[in-house]
Amino acid sequence: MTVIVVGAGIAGLTAAWHLLASGTPPTDITVLESSNRVGGKLALAEVAGSRLDVGAESMLAVRPEAPELVREVGLGDALTTPATTSASVWSRDRLWPLPTGTLMGVPADPEAVRGLLTDEEVDRLRDERPWPVELSGDVAVGEYLAARLGDAVVDRLVEPLLGGVYAAQARQLSMAASVPALHTAALRGESMLGAAQAAAAARAGTRAGAGAFCGIVGGLGRLPEQLQDSLRAAGVRIETGVTVRELARTQAGWRLTCGPVPSPSVHEATSVILAVPPPSAGRLLAGVAPAAAATMAGIEVASMAVITLAVDRRALDAAGHVLPGSGFLVPATDARTIKASTFSSNKWSWVGDLRDDVVFLRASVGRAGEVAPLQVSDEELVDVAVREVGQAVGFPLAPVVDSHVQRWGGGLPQYAVGHLERIAAVEAAIEGVPGLEVCGAAYRGVGIPAVIASARAAADRLQASRSSEERSVP
Ligand SMILES: Cc1cc2nc3c(=O)[nH]c(=O)nc-3n(C[C@H](O)[C@H](O)[C@H](O)COP(=O)(O)OP(=O)(O)OC[C@H]3O[C@@H](n4cnc5c(N)ncnc54)[C@H](O)[C@@H]3O)c2cc1C
Repeated sequence: MTVIVVGAGIAGLTAAWHLLASGTPPTDITVLESSNRVGGKLALAEVAGSRLDVGAESMLAVRPEAPELVREVGLGDALTTPATTSASVWSRDRLWPLPTGTLMGVPADPEAVRGLLTDEEVDRLRDERPWPVELSGDVAVGEYLAARLGDAVVDRLVEPLLGGVYAAQARQLSMAASVPALHTAALRGESMLGAAQAAAAARAGTRAGAGAFCGIVGGLGRLPEQLQDSLRAAGVRIETGVTVRELARTQAGWRLTCGPVPSPSVHEATSVILAVPPPSAGRLLAGVAPAAAATMAGIEVASMAVITLAVDRRALDAAGHVLPGSGFLVPATDARTIKASTFSSNKWSWVGDLRDDVVFLRASVGRAGEVAPLQVSDEELVDVAVREVGQAVGFPLAPVVDSHVQRWGGGLPQYAVGHLERIAAVEAAIEGVPGLEVCGAAYRGVGIPAVIASARAAADRLQASRSSEERSVP
């Protein structure tokens, strides 16, 4: 079997790694990546002389996939947990502690959100109302929760939390895909506050707070770099700067047309794994599985930017200014430009230890359907990040000794209502195409563990179909 993996984000690299690990007899694997580096949304960049994550920076550790992969590639010793997870919400001009014990913002105990929500808003939250009709399918999480618990908890808690993961508008986001525990309760007509209480009880005694997340000393960006090294050492070819433009069936398998139209290059393989974002998947599937292609092309993507700041630590210390906790979320309803800030030097000990004289933090800008805040220069993005983080913490961030702006055009796929059904149809269509698999953030979870799981499953399906083909050869 010769396999071409298209896309060298964490999905494509993991798929190749998993094929290699489970491939008997050995498989000939090539990874083709359009950009000039591997890793996709996992990326390191130099800020004030230090390498820091400018994309994803934290992984859920309550699922096993991320720590497992980190250990498999030999980075187990560098696994770390956040030094603090005490985050805030910058709401109505002040920072409020982000309540713990919520199920994606729905509190187990409404008292826990008093302050962040006004007394009237807490009363409305307690007065849980029924959804007007029996729910039989998917629904927008924000719309549903607002009807039952009031707008405030959605605007000031649920949406900022979901925005941090999906860059999404809660009132358009699939409940089934984004908060399945709430969706299951909703289908049964159960209380949302009750579902949050049940989730809190189930979590009791399991890893919570800092233990629920992990990172890598030196940055998550080390993971794809290490995967690339390990894959190459095992004989996998990884070619960057190669954009796959077209996928076509041949008698023996697949032909991939790559590179610029005037001087294309052609690759052939018996099997292909597409590990690319929805717009690329839509284009590549067009001639192969048209209905699946149309669905993938129809998945919206949200663009964003991560602004990393290096601030003079001595000036902050001299003024007695301390950044509080791990950072804060910003409700969209307050009409700020930034949607969140992470105080990286507080959150990760290894970042705090990088420089005695510098504090590192980052801010993110960009929500689904909002492009205007990103249509400005890098300097303006830095200015707005410095200004708004300063307003939130109540002191100026000065002097800024270095900054870095990373733009993520189409960074996160949006899981609209009905996403899981549409994805099931895509998967069924792909299943009917021998030697083709898809994986990545567009399908069943945007977080790194879910993406790793999707890549492993794609590799397993390919191996399984090969085994059954071999068995059927007389
Ligand atoms: C700013 C940001 C912060 C995030 N933070 C976190 C976090 O802290 N924790 C977390 O769990 N998740 C986080 N996520 C989500 C997570 O990082 C991503 O969902 C995940 O990394 C996506 O991996 P992927 O391999 O599916 O896609 P990608 O990383 O997008 O990789 C796809 C690759 O395919 C390549 N490609 C596209 N088209 C072609 C083509 N035609 N030919 C060849 N190559 C092609 C692209 O160049 C890219 O390298 C974050 C996402 C963003 C944008």
